[in-house]
Amino acid sequence: MHHILYRILKTGILTEPAPSPSDTLLAQAENLSALSYRRFGHSLSIRHLDAGSCNGCELEIHLLNSPYSMLEALGFRFVASPRHADLLMVTGPVSLHMKEALLATWEAMPHPKLVVAVGDCSLDGGVFAGSYAVAGGVDSVVPVRVRVPGCPPDPRALLQGLITAVEG
Ligand code: SF4
Repeated sequence: MHHILYRILKTGILTEPAPSPSDTLLAQAENLSALSYRRFGHSLSIRHLDAGSCNGCELEIHLLNSPYSMLEALGFRFVASPRHADLLMVTGPVSLHMKEALLATWEAMPHPKLVVAVGDCSLDGGVFAGSYAVAGGVDSVVPVRVRVPGCPPDPRALLQGLITAVEG
């Protein structure tokens, strides 16, 4: 018992401190929540599609949903079906194997079918451009409303991209 307490005291706190109430990330999230209610009449429903990513961009998207950002508390939802989605976030270059799936996902969505391309790879293939397995950027398959550059883009950039898409 003493041994465990000693280890706890010696290790200290390793987690990040909670965001302060004045953190701009939370203010941006509240802004998006209000925008979404004005435009759709409900909170934003997002479908994420990995079209061939290295998963770096996914880690940043997960942060949007983490206890740090608490976006679900503001009503955001990542949905499983594209039929329930207002907005599609696509990560990665579009691999040849995922090209048809991306198109089918987009076609299944109700209008306005907002698409946000996340990360440098989604813009033009990024580090995978020119590969025999890559069809190109997301806009070579479906219309893209907003592009979020970065490798990977951080949660603030992602939120700004969502806001720009919903504002449009
Ligand atoms: S933009 Fe960077 S982090 Fe995102 S899928 Fe491409 S290589 Fe990975």
